[in-house]
Amino acid sequence: MDQRKVVQPADRTRFDDVREIGVLVASGIGDFVATVPALHALRAAYPHARLVVLGDVWHPDFLTGRPGPWDEAVPVPRNTGIARLDRDPGGRLREFLEAQRGRYDLVVQLHGGGADSNAVVQSLGAPHTVGAWTPGAVELDRCVRYVPGRPEVLRCLEVAELAGARPASGTQGLVPSLVVTDDDLAQAHDAWPDTGPFVLVHPGARDARRCWPVGRFAEVGVRLNQTLGIRMLVVGAETDRALASQLRSRLGPAGADLTGRLPLGGFLGLARRCTLFLGNDSGPRHLAVAAGAPTVGLFLTSNVRTFGPLVGARDRVVESRTVCCPTCGRPEACDHVISWVEDVSVDEVVATCEEVVEDAERLLLVGAVGESEPSSPASASGSAS
Ligand SMILES: [Zn+2]
Repeated sequence: MDQRKVVQPADRTRFDDVREIGVLVASGIGDFVATVPALHALRAAYPHARLVVLGDVWHPDFLTGRPGPWDEAVPVPRNTGIARLDRDPGGRLREFLEAQRGRYDLVVQLHGGGADSNAVVQSLGAPHTVGAWTPGAVELDRCVRYVPGRPEVLRCLEVAELAGARPASGTQGLVPSLVVTDDDLAQAHDAWPDTGPFVLVHPGARDARRCWPVGRFAEVGVRLNQTLGIRMLVVGAETDRALASQLRSRLGPAGADLTGRLPLGGFLGLARRCTLFLGNDSGPRHLAVAAGAPTVGLFLTSNVRTFGPLVGARDRVVESRTVCCPTCGRPEACDHVISWVEDVSVDEVVATCEEVVEDAERLLLVGAVGESEPSSPASASGSAS
């Protein structure tokens, strides 16, 4: 008899008796947008379960009432990264976990490698847990090793699949998409009632390495204004104000500044209306993609793999060739506040912008702007459908 060991495939079946699912993704906007295809897969696999996003402080405002695969968003207390159980100032995380304990039948960890977050998932006391695992992390019921540098959208889909939630067929299912509601469009209209064509420009990013010099954005803006006759609307959060006002003053009559004047929903509404979004690899760029805008993003090489587009021509990247700090030469983040995307030329960016705008006009872009998702009361309440 053949004594060779038969390796059984890992279990990827759906769990039974799941009425409430918690999905941990307590981080930034870009990270959340990358989870959306996985959330849709979970919704399709568990159509009658209640799906709760265990998110950051900004999630409840943004997701409540927005049609999507979620039913509710709950903020998880955190400082930097997810709070660790053994470093939990004021005990806010423990208090939160105590209150939520026993609520979920399944918890899905889409937060990251699991070094800290898997212990948080385990404390929720769910009968079923799935997620990524990194050496030293708590093991969940079903885990997949966290391999750094993989595309985030696919990584999240792999984790969802551990719970029997398979991705929808079709390559467009790999593009994160958010419904733009009538409220979003109304907020956008209040902030910018002008009906002429415009380019949305976001010159900021949390990480200085990802910021293209503001003078370059201004050069692109002036040139696009000359060739395409399009105005530049500068957008961003309060933290982007200094950069935004520099850009606004260099653009002259070609520009306007809406920095700090748009809630996230209003930004989605404006992104739906824009001819093009241009910006650094940051939250607004990910939201613009999800709203269906043609985008051109300035990217670090390493981030093209993790957060760059997977399919389609609507979402374009101009990639830096710099792979280490221009000051100290270290290949990872250091203390120097310096751009790693400065080597990207104005000509490259202008050419890519013009190509995307031209493609949109020739309808070469799948899911191009103008395609509107319904936001009727029926769809707004139909998250379990
Ligand atoms: Zn350095």
